[in-house]
Amino acid sequence: MTVDAEVIVVGGGPGGSAAAREIATLGKRVMLLDRERFPRDKPCGGGLSVKSVALLPFDISHVVEHIATGVIVGDPSAGSATQEAGEPMLFLTQRCRLDAFLLDQARAAGVDVREGQRVTRVLRREDGVFEVTVNLDDVSTGDQDSDIVYTSYVVVGADGANGVVGRALGFAPPAEHGVALEGNLPCPDGIPDWLRGRVLVSFAMLAGGYGWLFPKGDHVNVGVGGLEDAGPELRDELARFCTLFGWDIERLEDVRGHRLPLWGPGRRVASGGAALVGDAAGLVEALLGEGMYSALASAHLLAPVVAQYLDGAVGDLEAYQRALDRELAPSLQRAARIAAILHAWPRPLLRIVVGSQRIWWLMARVMDSGSGTHSGVVTMWLADALLRPLAWIARRRGPTSGRA
Ligand SMILES: Cc1cc2nc3c(=O)[nH]c(=O)nc-3n(C[C@H](O)[C@H](O)[C@H](O)COP(=O)(O)OP(=O)(O)OC[C@H]3O[C@@H](n4cnc5c(N)ncnc54)[C@H](O)[C@@H]3O)c2cc1C
Repeated sequence: MTVDAEVIVVGGGPGGSAAAREIATLGKRVMLLDRERFPRDKPCGGGLSVKSVALLPFDISHVVEHIATGVIVGDPSAGSATQEAGEPMLFLTQRCRLDAFLLDQARAAGVDVREGQRVTRVLRREDGVFEVTVNLDDVSTGDQDSDIVYTSYVVVGADGANGVVGRALGFAPPAEHGVALEGNLPCPDGIPDWLRGRVLVSFAMLAGGYGWLFPKGDHVNVGVGGLEDAGPELRDELARFCTLFGWDIERLEDVRGHRLPLWGPGRRVASGGAALVGDAAGLVEALLGEGMYSALASAHLLAPVVAQYLDGAVGDLEAYQRALDRELAPSLQRAARIAAILHAWPRPLLRIVVGSQRIWWLMARVMDSGSGTHSGVVTMWLADALLRPLAWIARRRGPTSGRA
């Protein structure tokens, strides 16, 4: 039987391009389909953590516009403290540049990248082969608005928060979503001194929410996020957040929002020869909304399993589900618990975190536990023993506003 590609990856964001690149590097024939043409933008703060960059086997410095070595926790209304790491903590990029570069790396690894191809339907045939129907929007070839069907042995859904692959193949949607709104404040005279080399994160916002300032090359990305039901309040919240720094929301350019599918325990992300990665798998971390690490990490865990499946060494992609539950889920669960606790008692807890260098670094270490080091096993065990009951109580209390 001939197929168009051994693997079809739907979506060319960080999750899709990483999955495609890593599977192709293992010698498999991979096609990647994205409805957009790159460079394309995506609502995102563009903050790449150190552990995310560690998953990329190439230099990304030419798409990094700013490096934060410190973080300001709080804001002028709630009080703030600056924690300096003295080494890079967050790499600030723009998604239009980062994603195009990551996709180029996939191309260089041999992936057949097809842009402007919107997947509308995915079907698993009786013989196990997948049929992926795309709607072409290729004006140059005159194929506008025509459909084409590609076939493959494996399908990877990397099509983001509103992806079609998961839905088409019967995967349950994530139980909980966050929502965030962001825009860019132009800084023609440069990034303000107090923000240079730093990011700001504030939890003194609406219940369950947070705000951020991420400096880039010639602008500051300003955003607010919260749980999904906070959606209608987000624009007012963004305006209020801007005011705290003396800025008018009208100065923000490209204001746009998007959903964040939050990680929750027990979600299935693999079935037979199909698997989901990144936002399509619902892997966004609940405290700061970091999703690119999960996208890259899930792709990294999936690639060897796909190769084994194609080689006939395993009968399905179940080992990916197990790897995700073992390697990624514990840190996502920790973040979800910290988020529940912080949002239940934001003011007293932030006073502690902001006031104590030691507690801050302990929390940062617990949050960073996805990096794969085993040195912190005891710390993680203790953290889990403490966080589990506290999060249980916090969830019963529910989120409250951290506003002074
Ligand atoms: C406002 C906001 C701020 C954020 N800030 C950060 C941050 O600073 N740091 C961080 O780590 N995370 C952040 N996140 C989360 C992060 O943006 C996502 O977790 C990340 O983009 C997930 O990558 P992905 O590859 O899974 O999906 P995506 O990046 O969403 O990529 C999905 C791709 O699939 C394509 N696609 C969708 N449907 C189809 C279809 N039917 N056919 C073909 N192609 C399709 C899309 O065009 C897109 O290219 C933020 C999210 C939001 C909303």
